Amino acid sequence: MTFVVPPHPAVTIPVANGDGLFPVRRIYCVGRNYAAHVREMGMDPSREAPFFFSKPTDAIVVAPGGAGAQISYPPATGEFHFEIELVAAIGHAGRDIPVGQANSHIWGYGVGIDMTRRDLQIAARDRGRPWEPGKGFDQSAPVSLLHPASAVGHPVDGEIWLQVDGQDRQRSNLKNLIWSVPEIIANLSTLFELRPGDLVFTGTPEGVGPVRSGDVMRGGVAGLTDVEVSVA
Ligand code: MN
Repeated sequence: MTFVVPPHPAVTIPVANGDGLFPVRRIYCVGRNYAAHVREMGMDPSREAPFFFSKPTDAIVVAPGGAGAQISYPPATGEFHFEIELVAAIGHAGRDIPVGQANSHIWGYGVGIDMTRRDLQIAARDRGRPWEPGKGFDQSAPVSLLHPASAVGHPVDGEIWLQVDGQDRQRSNLKNLIWSVPEIIANLSTLFELRPGDLVFTGTPEGVGPVRSGDVMRGGVAGLTDVEVSVA
C-alpha cells in the first residue's frame, strides 16, 4: 500500500562524537522540579508528587552549540520563555520501575530547552485546561546532542545554566532537583510504559524569562554538549 499523504520522517537526535542517531518516540516533561523555580511561578515548593506533561515528538529542534540552529518566534504569545533542562533518554523499556533500577533504563543524557508560551500556559493552568497550547507547540523542544551514560555516567551534581546574548539568566545545580532523575523515571513508569526512544525533560531551575526575535539562547549542563538556538 502507498501512503495517501507523505509520511513524516523519523525524528532523530545525533549522538555526540558521531556515534549514531537516537530515534525519538515520546517527549515527557516534569513540572515544578526546582524549589526556587516553583516559588517564582507563585506556587508552593513543598514536595508534592511529580506531575507530567508532553510535547509532540516533532517539536524537537536539534540545536548543538555553534551550529546556528534557529527557531521562529511562535504565534499567539507575548511571553516566549526559556526553561533549561537536563534531558534523560530512555534506552530500555519498563513499567513500574523501582527507583533503584531506574538508571539501568536510561541510555544517556542531553540538554534541552522547554520553550513555553508562558501567557497561554498560565491561562490554561488557572482555568484547569490542558497545557498543550503553552507547551506543546512547533519547535518548542530545542536539544543538544546526546551522550551515552556509558561515557558520562548519571549526572546528579553539576551546573545547569542558560544565557541570553551572553548574559546569565539561569544558573543552578542538578543537586537542587526536588525529584531526582531515578525518582522521576520510577514515578513516570507507573503511568506510562517507557519505551526506547522516549525523552524525559527533568524540570528547570529559577530564572526563566522571555526572549524576543534576534536573541540567542545558549545553555548547558556540566559534562554535556551545550544547546544553542537563535530566535527568528
Ligand atoms: Mn519545563
